Amino acid sequence: IEERFDAIVIGAGMAGNAAALTMAKRGMKVLQLERGEYSGSKNVQGAILYADMLEKLIPDFREDAPLERHLVEQRFWMMDDRSHVGLHYCSDEFNEQRPNRYTIIRAQFDKWFSSKVREAGATVLCETTVTELAQDAKGKVVGVRTDRGGGEIHADVVVLAEGVNGLLGTRAGLRERPKPDKVALAVKEMHFLQRETIEERFNLEGDEGVVIEAAGTISRGMTGMGFIYANKECISLGIGCLVADFQRTGETPYGLLDRFKRHPSVARLIKGSEVKEYSAHLIPEGGYKAIPQLYGEGWVVVGDAAQLNNAIHREGSNLAMTSGRIAAEAISQVRSRRAPMSAENLALYKKMLDDSFVIKDLKKYKDMPKLMHTNSQNFFLTYPQLVSRAMQNFVRVDGTPKTEKEKVTLKSFVNARSWIGLFGDAFRLARAWR
Ligand code: FAD
Repeated sequence: IEERFDAIVIGAGMAGNAAALTMAKRGMKVLQLERGEYSGSKNVQGAILYADMLEKLIPDFREDAPLERHLVEQRFWMMDDRSHVGLHYCSDEFNEQRPNRYTIIRAQFDKWFSSKVREAGATVLCETTVTELAQDAKGKVVGVRTDRGGGEIHADVVVLAEGVNGLLGTRAGLRERPKPDKVALAVKEMHFLQRETIEERFNLEGDEGVVIEAAGTISRGMTGMGFIYANKECISLGIGCLVADFQRTGETPYGLLDRFKRHPSVARLIKGSEVKEYSAHLIPEGGYKAIPQLYGEGWVVVGDAAQLNNAIHREGSNLAMTSGRIAAEAISQVRSRRAPMSAENLALYKKMLDDSFVIKDLKKYKDMPKLMHTNSQNFFLTYPQLVSRAMQNFVRVDGTPKTEKEKVTLKSFVNARSWIGLFGDAFRLARAWR
């Protein structure tokens, strides 16, 4: 390719597709490069799709997007080794005309998303790995080099949507490599079952869906969570923990997944299923304080590559789509002023992102990642065990007077954490949450 482009987008995940689509729709000449065989072939997600963020890109997406189930129920489980304490929210109001959240299968979804990018006029090249950013003598990014050879491909601006590893940005010195205490390693399996079996086990009708987020002794005192998402004919099931915690404990991701699957609350949901797929992927979990420089001379970075992930709410793809769209809108505004794609002008992207829910939400939880990591034994092991025992004590009828039961429960908390520890944990949690 010898021609010059208005923009090059590296990666065809959620962020890259959102950016390429937005710029192509605005008449820009866009080249998108994806190393996978097709868009989505390399991507791993639970996956919950948040409709609002996609609607801003493709308002009528419900007409032909490959969606699995619309969510009517969310369950949170605090688990110990043989039980779970649950908070379930189920509402018929989610059976609305334009449902708010869906389960999806990324390989199918990304392929569809990519077809919309092509329809909008972008050139999408798969099986093409960008090996290096091309920079001029002053360090300005002026294009890319790929594994297809043929020299540099030039553009006014390069959008880095290369995902969590962000090797290109790191190699070019635009950002640091994510540290082990800022990224989680998640493993996931797809369990296939008859559609009716899934609906019966999860108490669903038609295309209704449910997701379960789980924390507790399943992560063996490490900072991490498990998930179980019901699709039409399969269940996505996975677990992830901070890489630093895997290093510290010597636990293995597949060891954790295996235990999670054998937990009595989980085993009955997947009983008799056929596992057809498994995958592993990193998730950026450093939050607000881990966000790198977002723009520079001739470049912007979006999505997971910019560490934009809200681990508390399990949101990533929506932050990726939004940052991709906002970056593209900012670029298009700079272009319409016929201004250069300089760091000074591309700062508009950061300003627009700061004003959006993306940065506002990450800022709100800025102290959470550290709190969870430095107190993982308490939050992911001690408290789930205590809460489970308290619940068992509360519901088991065995002739023990209730006041005695209450004393036993209170004593178990104080013995495990002391009064100062209990108040300290509550205070730190409340402060990090506010
Ligand atoms: P990616 O989707 O990772 O896309 C990056 C793309 O860049 C890939 O296609 C890759 O092949 C390509 N690429 C990388 N390097 C190069 C290169 N050098 N040249 C060319 N192409 C390149 N988020 C949610 O919102 N809901 C969920 O339920 C959810 N569940 C998750 C479960 C798991 C197990 C994991 C791992 C993540 C989950 N996430 C979830 C997070 C979500 O998947 C990410 O936030 C989202 O995919 C980020 O999109 P992205 O476009 O930034 O990166």
